[in-house]
Amino acid sequence: MSQDLAGEVAEKLKKRMDRESKPIIVNISNRHWHCTQETFEKLFGAGARPTNIRDLIQPGQYACRETVTLKGPKGEIKKARLIGPFRPYNQIELSRTDCVALGIDAPLRDSGNVKGSAPITLIGSAGEARLSEGAIVQMRHIHFHPKEAEAYGVKSMEYVKIRVGKPPRDGVLSVLCRVREDMKLECHLDTDEGNALGIKNGDLGTML
Ligand SMILES: [Zn+2]
Repeated sequence: MSQDLAGEVAEKLKKRMDRESKPIIVNISNRHWHCTQETFEKLFGAGARPTNIRDLIQPGQYACRETVTLKGPKGEIKKARLIGPFRPYNQIELSRTDCVALGIDAPLRDSGNVKGSAPITLIGSAGEARLSEGAIVQMRHIHFHPKEAEAYGVKSMEYVKIRVGKPPRDGVLSVLCRVREDMKLECHLDTDEGNALGIKNGDLGTML
């Protein structure tokens, strides 16, 4: 083995051992939605505001008391929860199984990229919002603070592989890295992915 190759192998091994020593918390995102103030008021009444019932790991993000019925051409799903605070766009995050139940062909997208995504109707306690776009299947991803991204040696929007689950139901998934000042280390999978790999909230994954 040439010295160059030996050096390269040692470097790769070191990176791998380093990542294995820093497992990543994995949480399962059930279907949920984000919305504008305008959409919220359509659903819950003029002047209504979301009620925070639980802070999430991602700084500033919270689960709200408010839920809606999601309606598509083939069916409805009740009690889909709002995640606050308001955003400048509406985004309804569904699993592929939800899409089948609703009869919606939502595209696989990164968060915030909702242009031309699937139409969906939301039904709240005070009214309904027929959205011409907004329904997506969220790409599985890992959130990083810039300092954490540096420690793991990853860049924003890079795809990495993470090993999750326990044998014999474990697996390796490609996931998108999302790096932002207001983010914190956490991997998000959807319910289809979590169920397929037998993962519970708070399980740990290892970046390869
Ligand atoms: Zn996330």
